[in-house]
Amino acid sequence: MPDQTLRVCALYPDLMNIYADRGNMVMLERRCSWRGIGFALTAAGLGDEIDPEAHDLFYLGGGQDRDQQLCAQDLVDTKRDALHAAAGRGAIVLGICGGIQLLGDHYELGDERVPGIGLVDLKTVRAIDGTRLIGNVAIEVELAGLDGPRVLAGFENHGGRTTLGAGETPLGRVLKGHGNDGRSGFEGVHHGTVIGTYLHGPLLPKNAWFADWLLATALGVAPDSLAPLDDALEDAAHASARRAAGV
Ligand code: GLN
Repeated sequence: MPDQTLRVCALYPDLMNIYADRGNMVMLERRCSWRGIGFALTAAGLGDEIDPEAHDLFYLGGGQDRDQQLCAQDLVDTKRDALHAAAGRGAIVLGICGGIQLLGDHYELGDERVPGIGLVDLKTVRAIDGTRLIGNVAIEVELAGLDGPRVLAGFENHGGRTTLGAGETPLGRVLKGHGNDGRSGFEGVHHGTVIGTYLHGPLLPKNAWFADWLLATALGVAPDSLAPLDDALEDAAHASARRAAGV
């Protein structure tokens, strides 16, 4: 694919990048570069408008409650419509942890209701007693274009409990760990090309197969059409994350 370029827009990379979530961008860049695919990364911070046509993948990493509060209203005011338009034309929108929370309807923090952009029907409430859902996690995922279920492994640490609306589908089924709320067995959300998950790690270096699935889907090609890479290190990272989760 000589003339292709993956165009990525990282939303609030300075504020929403907890647990090395920035590493997800490095992973996409490397896997493009090793295959001779171009990679263009644009950052959009507070106050920046975004062009829904200009990117194939929009990325929102995780954040502390305080940083999320800073970004939430800006996301609604300056980026919500563009992100709806982008998802509507098939661009990928990927939210991690604090990111998935802001893609939904709202995040309730005690008396405060932090607004989301309503790209998916979910809501999040911080536990009244403040307990966090922390630990290694593994989920089973089924995605179009793959030959069967796959495992995503990572690490979660969130105070928020996320509930999906009746019509929403989770990204996966919890094998080990807490997932969206510690009870439902659901992890993340998958709605068209909008994907949210609580998995840090960062997610993509520990799950190279998923990085490739995102990359291919964002470019509009079949995952198995991507040139194979020597994934010895990536496979070891995946195996180690699975072992940590006990899967
Ligand atoms: N601040 C959010 C929570 O605690 C998200 C945390 C995160 O991104 N790790 O639920």
